[in-house]
Amino acid sequence: MTEEASIYYDDDVQRSQIEGKTVAVLGYGSQGHAHAQNLADSGVDVVVGLREDSSSREAVREDGLEVTTPKEAAARAEVVSVLVPDTVQPAVYEEIEEELEPGNTLQFAHGFNIHYNQIQPSEDVDVTMIAPKTPGHLLRRNYENDQGTPALLAVYQDATGDAKEEALAYAQALGCTRAGVVETSFREETETDLFGEQAVLCGGITSLIKQGYETLVDAGYSPQMAYFECLNEMKLIVDLMYEDGLGAMWDSVSDTAEYGGLTKGDVVVDEHARQNMEEVLEAVQDGTFAREWIAENQAGRPSYTQLRQAEKNHEIEEVGADLRALFAWADEESETSEDEQEKVSADD
Ligand code: NAD
Ligand code: MG
Repeated sequence: MTEEASIYYDDDVQRSQIEGKTVAVLGYGSQGHAHAQNLADSGVDVVVGLREDSSSREAVREDGLEVTTPKEAAARAEVVSVLVPDTVQPAVYEEIEEELEPGNTLQFAHGFNIHYNQIQPSEDVDVTMIAPKTPGHLLRRNYENDQGTPALLAVYQDATGDAKEEALAYAQALGCTRAGVVETSFREETETDLFGEQAVLCGGITSLIKQGYETLVDAGYSPQMAYFECLNEMKLIVDLMYEDGLGAMWDSVSDTAEYGGLTKGDVVVDEHARQNMEEVLEAVQDGTFAREWIAENQAGRPSYTQLRQAEKNHEIEEVGADLRALFAWADEESETSEDEQEKVSADD
């Protein structure tokens, strides 16, 4: 085992590190709206930076905050929080670069552009990260309910000598030190985030579901049964693991399911899959994936567009849409996440 990460709480924070400073929040999407409002409610002076034609400008004003251009916001701020989409950040950085004065802070919620050198700040600014471990609407809701949202903290560049202390004060203003702020590095956050979403979360789990579904359907079972077994029941299993670990899941399923799972899981996700995971990790570590993704964006996203369409056209999506209609009573539970999706997709 390598060394365990430090965790910081409210008691570790010097409020003076953020008091009296102006924070420019660039972007008003999932993270941006929550950072801006939590900071403002914590007494920090906030100005939101958005393009002149951004459809989010109205939302900022409705929330009682001031909005101007990214350039103007950065000019007024000591701390510039970059919360536009990762693929857009390098272009927005070019607009604001000359407004960063020595001793100012460039603050991120994800390390991609710094770690892969898509943004190269001058040496006289602090470069920090506070990355809440939830989507923005939960960061905001937790703050309003006097609860905390765990976050990651990282310092890439400490020009002032106070970079970490200021980042902790920023995290406190978001409500994150109520729960705990875990220290990491830009490299570790970026590489584990990319690996996780590719191999296990977004990529791994959808492939597992589709391959399971196709195996059953190709063997002559009904698509409806295949959907239930391979996708619908995933939520029950994941909820149990999320609440209390793998053991809680194993305790809740039947002995037959437990024995079958313990003996066959590693047959399916075997050593070959493990080798593939290591290759995926290597491509993240040596920058191959980053270069591929940057080139894909520069080319206008041709493969991405095609892959997205193919995923939409998969039979499981059609079968699922019909079957989910049978679960109408579950809609109420998921209302918040739908609101959030609308908020995000309504912009730009
Ligand atoms: P988002 O897509 O929800 O919102 C980005 C906002 O940026 C938009 O709402 C808009 O206000 C602005 N914007 C969009 N396109 C733009 C353009 N072309 N030019 C200028 N402004 C534009 O983004 P997000 O999910 O909040 O991500 C922001 C940062 O937070 C990213 O670095 C991301 O990795 C990180 N992050 C996100 C989450 C999450 O759950 N969403 C969690 C942790 C960290
Ligand atoms: Mg400035």
